[in-house]
Amino acid sequence: MTVPLHYQETMKSCEYQQIDPHALSTPTPGHTIAPSPGPCQEKKPSRLKRKWEVFPGKNRFYCDGRIMVARQSGVLPLTMGLILVTSGLFFVFDCPFLVEHLTGCIPVIGGVLFVFVVISLFQTSFSDPGILPRATPEEAADIEKQIDNPNGCTSSYRPPPRTKEVVINQQVVKLKYCFTCKIFRPPRTSHCSLCDNCVERFDHHCPWVGNCVGKRNYRFFYMFIVSLSFLTAFIFGCVTTHLALRSQGGHGLVFALQASPASAIELVVCFFSVWSILGLSGFHTYLVSANLTTNEDIKGSWSGKSGNEETGNPYSHNNILKNCCSVLCGPMPPSLIDRRGFVPLENVVHAGPTEIGFPAAKNDINMSHSTA
Ligand SMILES: [Zn+2]
Ligand SMILES: [Zn+2]
Repeated sequence: MTVPLHYQETMKSCEYQQIDPHALSTPTPGHTIAPSPGPCQEKKPSRLKRKWEVFPGKNRFYCDGRIMVARQSGVLPLTMGLILVTSGLFFVFDCPFLVEHLTGCIPVIGGVLFVFVVISLFQTSFSDPGILPRATPEEAADIEKQIDNPNGCTSSYRPPPRTKEVVINQQVVKLKYCFTCKIFRPPRTSHCSLCDNCVERFDHHCPWVGNCVGKRNYRFFYMFIVSLSFLTAFIFGCVTTHLALRSQGGHGLVFALQASPASAIELVVCFFSVWSILGLSGFHTYLVSANLTTNEDIKGSWSGKSGNEETGNPYSHNNILKNCCSVLCGPMPPSLIDRRGFVPLENVVHAGPTEIGFPAAKNDINMSHSTA
């Protein structure tokens, strides 16, 4: 898109006029641009939209885009309910007895584990798992052109499998084209059909946490399942001890359960969940130590399953400690979807290549430039 230079200049001066305090008749913080008369203001600009408001994936946003969840947040309320009810019953009905007869450390340990579980669950569920922004129409057209016309010869034939090959650690890795996001998916990226987004280092879509698990929230997910295993095993152990102490002296288990009926509920919930949670933690510990994702493990991308050549995982550092560090302690990658950012005005008003529509700080810089 080419815009004559003088027009760009007009745009710029116009941009400065808009944020001139005298031109702002009704100051409305952040969200609106006061319409000001000028050559480039043919249309009254509507309220600036945040990127989450026009986000193409199937996500829900709350608190002005600060919190995001998958639209199919699945059984997240059930997960939270089970954790809250079981822990609540434990603190109310078992802890007082155990403090009296054993030690005061029990509610402290339980409390620390519970806080850990809840924080890591919220971080997993309400954060960006590593969504890749879709290509803009211009970028998509550019990629399409490259695919259609790789050697400069025009042909109406379009081969269906669109792949690119890159070499990672002396291994050829195929990159697939995403028809929804109009991008070549980077290595380890997969498109989540439930959320309708391409997610970097896609692990799986977890209905229990109601979000995709990917590059940006895997560490929280891992923390969640590990701390939950500890909490479940801890509550299970404490409740068993509680019932054992109560049934001492020839009273029997029936007497103990009658004296503390809530313990029975906790015992059932913990008994049925502890095995699956422990199994899941063990499985993910194996994945972390091998620097694998669930997706790669199921597809057998590197192990020779489902007709793939057995190549070995090119992302592995061949050292368990290094793999754990790189998966769990590496620097937190930034969120690429910039959900609280503003949609550039050019996409709304089709005014041209300007940078209005970005946060107030930027306008302040513009203002200081214009007055200088
Ligand atoms: Zn995609
Ligand atoms: Zn998903």
